[in-house]
Amino acid sequence: MPSPTGREKPILGIDLGTTNTCVAHVRNRIPRVVPTDKGSLILPSVVALSEKGDLLVGAVARDQMVVNPQNTIYGAKRLIGRKFNSRVVQELRSYYAYEIVEGPQGEAAVRLGGKIFSLPEISGMVLGHLKTMAQTFLARPITEAVISVPAYYNDNQRQAVKEAGRLAGFEVKRIVNEPTAAALAYGFNRGLDQRILVYDLGGGTFDVSVLQLSGNVFEVLATGGDTFLGGVDFDNRIIDWVLDRFWQEHKVDLAESPIALQRIKNGAEAAKIDLTLIPNVTIDLPYIEERKGKPLDVRMPLSRSQLNELTADLVERTFAICDRVLEEKGLRPDQIDEVILVGGQSRMPLVQEKLLEHYGRRPRKGVHPDECVALGAALLADSLDQIDAVTLVDVLSMPIGIATPQGRVRRVLDKNLAIPGSRSFRLPPPREPGQPIEIDIFQGDSDRMVDNEFLGSIRLPAAATGRRIDFRLDEECLLKVSFDDPEQGMREVSFATRDTPESLRRAVADELARSRRTAEAAPGGDGRRGGGLLGWLRRG
Ligand code: AMP
Repeated sequence: MPSPTGREKPILGIDLGTTNTCVAHVRNRIPRVVPTDKGSLILPSVVALSEKGDLLVGAVARDQMVVNPQNTIYGAKRLIGRKFNSRVVQELRSYYAYEIVEGPQGEAAVRLGGKIFSLPEISGMVLGHLKTMAQTFLARPITEAVISVPAYYNDNQRQAVKEAGRLAGFEVKRIVNEPTAAALAYGFNRGLDQRILVYDLGGGTFDVSVLQLSGNVFEVLATGGDTFLGGVDFDNRIIDWVLDRFWQEHKVDLAESPIALQRIKNGAEAAKIDLTLIPNVTIDLPYIEERKGKPLDVRMPLSRSQLNELTADLVERTFAICDRVLEEKGLRPDQIDEVILVGGQSRMPLVQEKLLEHYGRRPRKGVHPDECVALGAALLADSLDQIDAVTLVDVLSMPIGIATPQGRVRRVLDKNLAIPGSRSFRLPPPREPGQPIEIDIFQGDSDRMVDNEFLGSIRLPAAATGRRIDFRLDEECLLKVSFDDPEQGMREVSFATRDTPESLRRAVADELARSRRTAEAAPGGDGRRGGGLLGWLRRG
């Protein structure tokens, strides 16, 4: 039990980011970030195997990325909890220098030094490093944590993050949505009565949530996002631009050299960050290639307005998502009292200008975009078993439903359903007489099965027809399904990343092939999603 001055055993609040991870704890009811062993407040979410075979985590892993890109795993947050065959993973395979392979359950996994690791294992190494760091800093053993995830993560991704926590030796007390944690860091114990919008543009994901704050009650009204939109997409626009210009000048494809590409990636990100502070920079990468014994350099001036042009549509996409989220609740931009910024990419001046234009107010200063999620997670952790605790009312960000024989998804749990929450229905008869009843569960915004993420299947004897089945979301937004099995009695199952049954795989593959044919037949359609580096590589 907590004492008035703090817990005997602190519970950590962890923001497991695409680029960086931040950890916080609460002492005397004040949340603080735990510094890394290098004195920094963030730990790069990078794991690597050095050329000598040492496992590296954090800044040391990131710092050797240029010379050892194939053995440096970054951006794991975009892969964790996803199927190897999913579109997202297939696209990321061309972006990432390391090898992404299929794991034993059909999930995405990575190869590091010839060995296959699951993504929970990789993220678990980052979390394990944080655990050691925090134990050293706080000089006591720590076994519990609250870990944040994007609001837009589906059930598989949430389960995989929980698994990463377990592998790091934590009892994961709660998975909390990042924007909700940020809102907590902003509003905890301030007695506010406000409607706020949390705009979270991180390294790999965009999340937006609208919350009503009433004292220490934090009610999420609506949420939305894109797990494929973040700082790396901004970097990729600059990378494309550099590759294109270099090709025009020298007819050399720098994308073919992993080391050159890694140097360009680093240069592009550094230029982008500098352009937040100054209006002009030069991307300067001497001796990037050699032609007939002569060195070729990248020396390209880039201005803030050029960067704005290269990335304007990405910023627009975030506002389209914000508008949709507000519309879902019948809210107008002028009904937002405060805008809270989260995520490093939200520092971009263009983002801030557009926010002012859109909401008629400057975003709230004083909430640190890199730290607020970890601080909020720590506050939640600290209040978990206290009487005057905070009350969080969160919502489901992506609907959950069951597949129909026509390849569509019938919604069971709707988007923005308050959690914990549940819905029951009666089991339908089997598709074929005498066969078992098959319930295939999917999550996603589309009505089409192929565009959704497969969560799991339940097979029940035909005798279960007409019996009740209950879909329940717990406070972590994890799905539990309970039903009355005529052979085994009442059962409850939850889902972790698992392989798709062969019959479903085939149905999905057929449907994908059909939609690809339709896209190719459409005027101007080339059947691909997005352009960017991937588009360039394909064009090249
Ligand atoms: P996060 O996932 O919140 O750690 O965000 C990391 C992303 O923020 C990376 O893509 C960084 O390049 C980007 N970032 C960090 N600082 C800045 C800055 N000052 N201006 C623009 N982008 C930034």
